[in-house]
Amino acid sequence: MSIQSNLQHIKSSLPENVTLVAVSKTKPVSDLMEAYDAGQRIFGENKVQEMTEKWQQMPKDIQWHMIGHVQSNKVKYMVPYVKLIHGVDSFKLLKEINRQAKRYRKNINCLLQISIAEEETKFGLNEEELNEILNSEEFKTFENVKIVGLMGMATFTDNQEQIRKEFLHLKEIFDKYKEFSAFNFQLSTLSMGMSGDYQLAIECGSTMVRIGSSIFGGR
Ligand SMILES: *Cc1c(COP(=O)(O)O)cnc(C)c1O
Repeated sequence: MSIQSNLQHIKSSLPENVTLVAVSKTKPVSDLMEAYDAGQRIFGENKVQEMTEKWQQMPKDIQWHMIGHVQSNKVKYMVPYVKLIHGVDSFKLLKEINRQAKRYRKNINCLLQISIAEEETKFGLNEEELNEILNSEEFKTFENVKIVGLMGMATFTDNQEQIRKEFLHLKEIFDKYKEFSAFNFQLSTLSMGMSGDYQLAIECGSTMVRIGSSIFGGR
């Protein structure tokens, strides 16, 4: 199967309200260009330097999403290029994104990563921490970031019922906080689902899927 046909196959199976992020980490620019030529404009990377290098070499109408864990000291390298940061999992990181975005006179869209998996290893905030961010006075002064949604990753398991349970849990949190609105907080995007579980994620309410290996092949 070619990248083009993989993409077409996946796109034709997505409902209209679901956005596809083509996860291109570790893949060469030639592979990304194949997807670009087939119409794909949103790419997801998990390393700042790799994203920057690809940005330089590729057409400028691409939206670059940072899907991986971000270290605060790397934020400044990414702010000029990034369209959406999926994995914001601490107040400290959000504060640094706001600070750097201000320096560049930009407004950066972010998703808060919520921990839904059983595994301890997955990054993310719990609901209490999400609440703390929202209610902090300092957050209300962050004029250069906007929280536009939530992101989560289910446990790596074959147990479909467990994955469903975790996705539904995130959807529940999403629906709850959708009611809450501020100039820098308005949830519309629910980023959940990867190659192995995106159909299930969509059934559970996902509006953005991050798909790598089913488009570009294994890594
Ligand atoms: C790598 C990655 C993906 C894509 O995974 P595939 O199984 O290749 O589709 C999605 N989300 C995140 C956060 C990733 O790191």
